[in-house]
Amino acid sequence: MLLSDGSSSGHPSCIMIGHHWARNLLGRAAERGRLCHSYMFVGPESVGKTSLAMHLAGYLVCTSSGSRPCGTCRGCRILDHGTHPDVSTISRAVEHRDITIDQIRQLEQGVALAPYEAPHKLFCIADADTMNDAAASALLKTLEEPPTQATLVLAVKDPFSLPSTIRSRCQALVLQPVPAAEIAAGLSEAHHVPDDLAREIASLARGRPGWAVRALGDPELVEHERAIVAIINGLPAQGPYSRMTAIDAWLGKRSFLEARERALDLLARLELWWRDALFSIHGVSSQSAASGASARHVIGIATAQGLSMPDIVAFLLATQVAASRIAGNVAPRLALEHLIATMPSPTSRLTRV
Ligand SMILES: [Zn+2]
Repeated sequence: MLLSDGSSSGHPSCIMIGHHWARNLLGRAAERGRLCHSYMFVGPESVGKTSLAMHLAGYLVCTSSGSRPCGTCRGCRILDHGTHPDVSTISRAVEHRDITIDQIRQLEQGVALAPYEAPHKLFCIADADTMNDAAASALLKTLEEPPTQATLVLAVKDPFSLPSTIRSRCQALVLQPVPAAEIAAGLSEAHHVPDDLAREIASLARGRPGWAVRALGDPELVEHERAIVAIINGLPAQGPYSRMTAIDAWLGKRSFLEARERALDLLARLELWWRDALFSIHGVSSQSAASGASARHVIGIATAQGLSMPDIVAFLLATQVAASRIAGNVAPRLALEHLIATMPSPTSRLTRV
């Protein structure tokens, strides 16, 4: 059963990269008939929230007596085509800003029906944090009267954008970024990608297997990522003028909204990069690394000039201030120019480690 834009995840439900703990937890609960009525899968975009929902769906519809989902039985095959009658996904339509109350009402009708083939139904709301208020109120009624043979999964980036009445009725599973080595192994094994390319795409993916799989079929996506990583890697060793030249080139002659989007993306990555460096300097590995090479680069700079934790923390706070200024409609270039002036700057030669 498909509800608006209810496409499948784009690759077989039996193929999933990362989040083994969550898969095991859900598999055990399904095996014992103890699935919750409603889950909230929380994590950044493309980290694997809807893939995990489809993996759980595969577990429920698979008829294999062996490992589930098998990917080959009838249930798995029609699930992977996105046409299984007991699995539905809804997401925000391209022409709408929100998930609408009509979409939730359609979901409610499906929830009220008994399963057609599988012993249990699964409904996934992708980007559930884009539900408007009316849609959220309608969903609350379903959550208050939970169906016996159906499970709802809300995939959300920011759980606090949902009303507390909805959050409190869902079992939350928080998905962390997947380590690059795990993504690289998944690309090599499941998608037959050469090892070198798998490692590069995994390092660019920033913990998001969904992005990595998309990048396999989209060279422009990879090029865009390579370009911004090159800019971020180059900034610390440059002087103020060169830094602003690089940022001007990145922002380009774009509309205010496009430049703002690029600037906020750059800020988010800068924050991750310097946070990774901070963790690394203090001997703590971070799963969010923009790339391992980037973090090592920064450690070299920090070692060379004796940057302290306060230096880096001050810059991290400055990235947040810049983001809030841009969100408050300050010109992106102006906010970035001010920020760049506060970036820790090497006074000695860059030392690579
Ligand atoms: Zn199967």
